[in-house]
Parts: sequence; C-alpha cells; structure tokens
Amino acid sequence: RAAQLRRLCDRPAQTLDGVRLPLYGNIGLPSEGPAARQSGAEGIGLYRTEYRFLLSEILPVEEVQLRDYREVLETFAPLPVTLRTLDVGGDKMLSYFPVQEDNPFLGCRGIRFSLDQPELFLIQLRAMLRANADLGNLQVLFPMIGTVDELDEALHLLARAGRELAAEGLAMARPRVGVMIEVPASVFLVGAMAKRVDAFSIGTNDLTQYLLAVDRNNVQVVTPYDALHPAVLDAIRQVIETAHRFGKPVSVCGEMAGDPAGALLLLGLGVDGLSMSPALLGEVKRAIRCVARERARQLAEMALGMESGFAIHRLLHGELARSQ
Ligand code: PEP
Ligand code: MG
Repeated sequence: RAAQLRRLCDRPAQTLDGVRLPLYGNIGLPSEGPAARQSGAEGIGLYRTEYRFLLSEILPVEEVQLRDYREVLETFAPLPVTLRTLDVGGDKMLSYFPVQEDNPFLGCRGIRFSLDQPELFLIQLRAMLRANADLGNLQVLFPMIGTVDELDEALHLLARAGRELAAEGLAMARPRVGVMIEVPASVFLVGAMAKRVDAFSIGTNDLTQYLLAVDRNNVQVVTPYDALHPAVLDAIRQVIETAHRFGKPVSVCGEMAGDPAGALLLLGLGVDGLSMSPALLGEVKRAIRCVARERARQLAEMALGMESGFAIHRLLHGELARSQ
C-alpha cells in the first residue's frame, strides 16, 4: 500500500470524470519544502510562519525572516506559496513576548497580536514582499480575521510595507492576499471581504473549535470536537457559495482537508484546493482519484441534509470503503 501511494506522487489529484483538484502542503520551516514537493504538493497552501518565532529565543529580524521565506518561495516557484502571517497566542506563546490572559484562545491571537504590535507586523510583511521579488508566487494569508476593520488595517499595513520598500529602493513584489476563515463571524463577512482580497482559506481546526465551543486539543470533552458536525458543513457551504459568487477561490487548510472522508466532502462542496500535512497527500489523492465529482456532489448534498455528525461519518466512510 505504501508503494502504491508513492506511485501516486507524480499523478494529479483528478476525479474519475477528469476534474483536477490541486493539493498543497502545510509546512512550518523552509527545510520541509523539498520533501513536500517530492510528496506531490503542488505548492504550499499554509506556511505557518510562527514556527521560526517559537524556535527562536529572540525575535527573528527581517533578514532572518527574509531568508526563510525566500527559500520556500524558491523551492516551489512558479507554484504558489501561501505564507501565513504570525499566528501566536492561544497555546502558542512567544517566550520573549508573553501575554497574560484568562482566555488566551479568545484573546490576543493571530491577527489581533500582529495589529497590536504593528512595528513587528511591518517587519514580517516587509520580509514577505522582499522574498517575492522576481518570483511572484507569494500569497499572504491573514489568520483569525473576525472583522472587516481588522482586514482593512492589515491591508493598510501591507500597502505601507510596500511603500516603505519602494522608497528604500529594495527589490520586492506585491503578493496575492488571502483571508483565513476560522473565526465564526468571518463566515458572515465573506461578501464584504471578497471585494478586498484574492482568495479565502478555511481553517477548519479553529472554525470547528469556535463554532462548537469545544477545545480542539482536549479529548476529554464529552461533546466531540468534530469537523463533520452539520453546523461546520453548513458554514463551509456558505463560505464557498458566497466567495464563488464574487469569483474568489476557496481552499481548506485545516485537518479536515487531509482526512480522505473530509476531502471527499469538500470536493463535493466545490472547494478549489486542499492543503494538508505532506504525509497525507497520497491518501487524499487516492480518495479523489476513486470518485467522480458528480458523486462527490451527491454525497455533499446528502451530508448537508443530515442532522448528526455520526451519520455523516458513516455516509463518507461507507463510500470510501466501497470505492477503494
Ligand atoms: C486551522 O485553524 O484550521 C488552521 C489551519 O490553523 P492552525 O491549525 O495553525 O490554527
Ligand atoms: Mg487556526
């Protein structure tokens, strides 16, 4: 089975009726890039920039960040690379930037931290724009956006970073811009945000956690943390429908994308790309190559009509067992 999966590396993720679904890798350090490429990633859908910050004992300066970002962009060019801006807070705390809060997951996380520290955020944005010089395969992704004002402020700082670099005569290129949909409020703001950005990426890990009010890391909660909960599916459906109405693509970079059952469902819901840990690319590709898109659509339709996550799991796993 392992050899079978390895052979799939060079084949596209294409359904039985010939629909291509691009599969991307989730990584956190540039050294992971070559292996992700060898596993068949058609780009990076989520580069978690906080890894470097968490590994470091001091704040990584612009040149250090630039080196990392440049390396991963070069590994994949001309394929797309999505660099997510710093997503610390919650359970990812910087030792050199401690924040004291009673509810860190509802506090200064993701974009909120960056907007609170604009001088740090500007350094990161400058490093990203510089890394994109002469390559042009960068997409910047903002995490934990929950209001249009936050997005506007982030876009404003991105534009400012570009102006600063131009004034300093430093080489750079402007990127595509994406927003993560992972705070429930953002599900309802996709229309407004679609006028401002190029793409959306659904973070099903946090979206599930916040929609269900169940800790994504606590297995003792009796109510299951379940990305196939009907409310999560309906939120995803709504995001895809609205974004597509505005002609903007939607990918998924949470763990649901790397689960064959989740991937099947997302294909049926009309997603434009999936991003996952490189180790999972083979299994997901196999699931996609064994189904027709029309069938995936039917499954999504059936799942959307179901009232419990359990029934949805049964539907999808039954399909996978029959098709593979
Ligand atoms: C997510 O929330 O689904 C996501 C991809 O981001 P992270 O897992 O890094 O919070
Ligand atoms: Mg997240």
